[in-house]
Amino acid sequence: MGKLDGQVAVVTGAGKGIGRAIALRLAADGAAVVVNYCHSSDAAEKTAEDCRALGVDAVAVMADVSTMEGADALMKEALKMSGRIDILVNNAGRTKDSLLLRMKPDDFDTVVKTNLYGTFYCMKAVSKIMLKQKYGRIISISSIVGLRGNVGQMNYSASKAGILGLTKSMAKEMASRGVTVNAVAPGMIETDMTRAMTEEAHAAMEKEIPAGRIGAPEDVACAVAFFASREAAYVTGQVLAVDGGLAV
Ligand code: NAP
Repeated sequence: MGKLDGQVAVVTGAGKGIGRAIALRLAADGAAVVVNYCHSSDAAEKTAEDCRALGVDAVAVMADVSTMEGADALMKEALKMSGRIDILVNNAGRTKDSLLLRMKPDDFDTVVKTNLYGTFYCMKAVSKIMLKQKYGRIISISSIVGLRGNVGQMNYSASKAGILGLTKSMAKEMASRGVTVNAVAPGMIETDMTRAMTEEAHAAMEKEIPAGRIGAPEDVACAVAFFASREAAYVTGQVLAVDGGLAV
């Protein structure tokens, strides 16, 4: 018996990286999983297949969460699994880094649209469902860059700081209705996103981490699994850094 048996989880951007590790972890805990993707259909199908191999239902669903229509369509598809959504993980995210002087307004819009609006749209789309159920767990992936800022990432850090505002406000709105809303703030985690950094930037960042290593996607997934559990019922509006001590 898994801790999440009978529950349905929606994980956005779950074809690869951190989202894939979260989908697999929730599946291992017994939840049926909706594996959302926007472009990476093969990767998402593979994640869904690997979830099913763990003995749960899983489907890959294409939806662009940076639009309200995409978020609504995603939740509508998810409801087809068993008429409920117990867990929403807002993981989809992107970067478009450059220093302020070179940052185009369009680079700002794209990143904020995906990371911040995407989280808002999914929170909004799932809220009616969870309120009706009088149960829900919403976990959003922020970043330590949202807590501390970062050179070359004004757009990304603004979007990730914004997610913390959404999380704390929604937590207060939903606290009396059985719905908890929390955030995880990863440090540097080995995925395509960080593999895109230059070797020098990668090495410089790694040197700063007190734990002495870059994190694995599974390190983030286990923090998400805690917030997603029934036992975490009295924990809401919180931000948990998963960063090997980087932000301390
Ligand atoms: P990644 O491998 O690049 O994955 C990003 C995911 O987001 C992809 O699966 C992508 O799906 C999805 N996505 C992007 N735009 C989307 C949209 N409009 N609709 C639906 N899905 C969309 O990066 P990652 O490192 O795993 O990042 C996952 C999350 O963790 C992000 O929110 C990121 O900001 C956060 N984070 C990462 C780190 C790190 O060090 N890696 C640190 C802190 C926070 P498609 O390919 O299908 O478009």
